[in-house]
Amino acid sequence: MGRVFCFSNQKGGVGKTTTCVNMAAYLAQADKRVLLIDMDPQGNATTGLGFSKGLIKKSVYNVLIDEESVQDNILITEVDGLSLLPANIDLAGAEVELVYKKSREKRLRAALEKVRGQFDYIFIDCPPSLGLLTINSLTASDGVIIPIQSEYYALEGLSQLMNTITLVRQHLNKSLRLEGVVLTMYDGRSLISRQIAGEIRKYFTKRLYENVVPRNVRLAEAPSHGKPITMHDSKCAGARAYSALTEEFLKKVESKGE
Ligand code: ATP
Ligand code: MG
Repeated sequence: MGRVFCFSNQKGGVGKTTTCVNMAAYLAQADKRVLLIDMDPQGNATTGLGFSKGLIKKSVYNVLIDEESVQDNILITEVDGLSLLPANIDLAGAEVELVYKKSREKRLRAALEKVRGQFDYIFIDCPPSLGLLTINSLTASDGVIIPIQSEYYALEGLSQLMNTITLVRQHLNKSLRLEGVVLTMYDGRSLISRQIAGEIRKYFTKRLYENVVPRNVRLAEAPSHGKPITMHDSKCAGARAYSALTEEFLKKVESKGE
């Protein structure tokens, strides 16, 4: 059965999409069958994998709202082994439309039941909010990965996210766990980056991945070419970081032997 992880933090621009897309690409490169689900109406993971979200007719919207199958809405990406359930403009309306649907928090989970067997890993890229799209993602997941940008306000809002995770665990998905925390855009030369890293390590202890992601311009460029870093520049510091992080993730997950 495929394991499901979502990348969540309601703070915008902290590296959720960059982490989700690049870890998914490294898992695919390690011969895992991977499905990436773009749950963000901004569609950054969709464009980052080379698709024009304006041209996409079918998306995760059809799965959530019309109860279409995941299978019928999947796209094959340029990365061998990586499939995408894309976002498009329609998804912006889903947050409101879901309110009136039955089992509104569990619709993604229900849809994934049927395809979990076809993938080793399913990664969900969440929007920067704690609305129903994120609740659906958390409810569908075995684990949540929180990317945190190493900057002064990094910890702000984290307690709200942790509360949301606790509520989802209590009411919707009791097996949800905090899988890990990733420090992104890290600058080892800056005192503030190192201080924030220290605070985050104190708070999350072993949940914080040892591999941090440095600020790296190649990572920021890759999406404009519609490619993950594996295909844009596999030797840059950002690529090495995501490669090592993915290895660390795999080792942790697979040692749990589920
Ligand atoms: P949103 O909340 O809007 O969905 P996000 O949390 O998904 O944002 P990203 O889109 O991954 O964040 O990253 C925000 C911006 O920072 C993007 O322009 C991205 O290319 C850039 N970026 C992400 N990680 C890095 C990095 N390690 N080095 C340099 N730029 C980065
Ligand atoms: Mg994003």
